Amino acid sequence: MDERHKKTFYITTPIYYVNDVPHIGHAYTTIIADAISRYKKLDGKKVFFLTGTDEHGQKIEKSAQEKGMEPIELADRVVKRFKSLWKKLNISYDYFIRTTEKRHEKGVQELFQNLKEKGDIYKGEYKGYYCVSCENFLSEDVPLEKEGHKICPDCGKEAGKVSEKCYFFRLSAYQDKLLELYEKKPLFVRPQSRMNEIRSFVEKGLKDLSITRSTVKWGISVPDDPEQSIYVWFDALNNYLTGIGYGWNKDLYQSFWPPDIHMIGKDILRFHAVYWPAFLMAGDFPLPQTVYGHGWWLKDKTKMSKSKGNVLDPHIILKRFGTDPLRYFLLREIPIGLDGNFSHEGFIHRCNSDLANDLGNLVQRTLTMIRKYFDGNIPTLGEELSDDISLRKRFDALKSRVADFYDNHSINKALEEIWTYINSVNKYLADSEPWSLAKDETQKERLARILYQTACALRGISYFLYPVMPESAQKIWDFLGEETKIEQASLPDLKFEDYKAYREILKPEPIFPRVDLKDFLKDEPKAAQGEPKKEGKMSQISFNEFKKMDLRVAEILSAEKVEGTRKLVKLEADIGDEKRQMVAGIADTYEPEELVGKKLVVIANLEPATIHGIESQAMLLAGVKEDGTAVIPFFVEDIPTGSKVQ
Ligand SMILES: [Zn+2]
Repeated sequence: MDERHKKTFYITTPIYYVNDVPHIGHAYTTIIADAISRYKKLDGKKVFFLTGTDEHGQKIEKSAQEKGMEPIELADRVVKRFKSLWKKLNISYDYFIRTTEKRHEKGVQELFQNLKEKGDIYKGEYKGYYCVSCENFLSEDVPLEKEGHKICPDCGKEAGKVSEKCYFFRLSAYQDKLLELYEKKPLFVRPQSRMNEIRSFVEKGLKDLSITRSTVKWGISVPDDPEQSIYVWFDALNNYLTGIGYGWNKDLYQSFWPPDIHMIGKDILRFHAVYWPAFLMAGDFPLPQTVYGHGWWLKDKTKMSKSKGNVLDPHIILKRFGTDPLRYFLLREIPIGLDGNFSHEGFIHRCNSDLANDLGNLVQRTLTMIRKYFDGNIPTLGEELSDDISLRKRFDALKSRVADFYDNHSINKALEEIWTYINSVNKYLADSEPWSLAKDETQKERLARILYQTACALRGISYFLYPVMPESAQKIWDFLGEETKIEQASLPDLKFEDYKAYREILKPEPIFPRVDLKDFLKDEPKAAQGEPKKEGKMSQISFNEFKKMDLRVAEILSAEKVEGTRKLVKLEADIGDEKRQMVAGIADTYEPEELVGKKLVVIANLEPATIHGIESQAMLLAGVKEDGTAVIPFFVEDIPTGSKVQ
């Protein structure tokens, strides 16, 4: 089907594994999908945007066990964190699917049964090396490390040999059909470089794929063979079907299937561009249009990973800068197909230069002048001169170019074009010197024309920015006196001169504050790493202010070093009526083990902070030496846990 003539648009993110807490990588994929889906809505499409969580598998089973929880409790907890981050990031998904939903489980079993009846799934015996951490069988060309051991090329952990009865998917039968698909639909995998990787992977030959395990209990069981549970990828990939109504809402399913784009990280491309279309071919489903494997964000030029401890926590950035600057930076800095480097310097530069200076100042100046010179209502317009015409014509050109770029998922290019235009509006304003014209009463109509023209341009700019920065775009739109929501204005109908000159301009507030890099770097890394800060002379507080602090005797229940950090320790403490998790920079002085069972003082009502991606729900008191190492005052005499300290 021709994508441009289709009335509906179905976009997905991967479903995120609940063994991880949401980080910048998840945020990136989801922000891309959100921007594309908002653009498609402006372009008049009926959009369905699916995201969700992948909740089965051995890893979840194990980590839940370690935490003394049921797997579903662990999943529920992580799902909450994903949903709360999506809310903060202004993600407009239509449905959040969880693979533990009954209707998903039922759908997966049906699909399994269906493929089994067709002969594409059969029972056999698998011998191979399995990486528990990645939940993946290693491919045979991975060399032996020593007898009976291989090293997983993805995570570097040891993979043991397993042999077990299981079900296979007849992937080998789909090699030619997949190559034919790549031939016929060259945009099936994007960007182009990744299509080449996938094609050469398939050309090397495909082996049948083991899709069940007998040792995993936390999973969807195989119909009529409850000893076996369905391997996580067969379970997870099918969310794209069950999430759009397959098996429970025929109308929904029929109006949206097949997906227009699966937006994913490049690391899971093989699953989406080889296994997934093969599963779908086996089930006679129409195939997705495009699988887009985006690049990764590196932190200071190295890959972010839990073990390195350099994973960026989006919450810290959001708290400090707000949602739109983060969305803007991630989408503006790099083409989505390539890797990007996240540095605070780069981020703050974009905030200050693009947002605060170029755009923020333009909004502020224009609206302030309209209010100052015309009481917020532009009166009779003077003639449209050649500069004005050129500003209007450039807008028309911008409109079609921006639409092309958005259609092509080149969001960074769309933003680049918009900024070129913003700068030409800034130049138009500087060249026409409205502040000088304002001194001459005979130039009133000319002044009105210039400010009107600028307001028209701003209105259009805010419209184009809406997919990337929905909140700020709507603010500009509102300041200009528009009374509708941006998404109600359709892209094909958008015209430069649609702006009505006589509406009332609202008093603008600054949208993008400037950030001082030195200030930021001075505070942020220390706050983020939980390092003690030195204070100068303190002012006095009253006894009442002191009483506001809930200081208590706490007992340390467990303590472990935070991986990838030098001095952080994660502690669990009993504070009397509940348990709290804390993070403290004390590993220089104490071995985590020696802390267990000790009693010390904590502030129980300090607002929680996220330190190194871990929520710290209380703070222990410690003395800090000149070199920054901490010494904790422990109770020598016994005292009941939870006792008040005053
Ligand atoms: Zn692995």
